[in-house]
Amino acid sequence: MSKRLPVRLDALRAAERGLRYEGALPLRDMTRLRALLADDGGSAAVALDFHQAGSERYRLDCRITAELPLVCQRCLEPVAFPVALSLALGLVRSDAEMARLGHEREPVLVGEDGELEIAALVEDELLLALPDYPRHASGCQLPAIEPLAEAPADVEDEPPRENPFAGLADLLKH
Ligand SMILES: [Zn+2]
Repeated sequence: MSKRLPVRLDALRAAERGLRYEGALPLRDMTRLRALLADDGGSAAVALDFHQAGSERYRLDCRITAELPLVCQRCLEPVAFPVALSLALGLVRSDAEMARLGHEREPVLVGEDGELEIAALVEDELLLALPDYPRHASGCQLPAIEPLAEAPADVEDEPPRENPFAGLADLLKH
């Protein structure tokens, strides 16, 4: 059975005990990620499976799913970006432990006492999953913003410019 997701925990001890956690993390609590979102009302669903594979080999299988409302870089409207991550992580306390891990698992550094900040881990992984240039894959609803060098095709909607010589004509009448 899964336990409720803690903010932080002793990850090594959780691995020794084979603990599982499940829960949702609000996007608005992730301050670095939040700055890149069009709206921070949603949450990320997180499932953690801590386990141990022999002595000193602490592992974490982590699933993160979320639908991130990013800002489309073409039309500047929100665009939903679905994320579904399945991560095979190795919990390490030092460079030596990291070297021993090899390439089979992505290392995650925990504190000397095994402490792991769950929210920071999830936020880091979501940030890594973000596209460099989010945009609507099937075309934007709004027309793209024209490059500045091109004159707008339709100038009718522009407010009339004030004629700087309008007052001059009046002056000349007198
Ligand atoms: Zn767009």
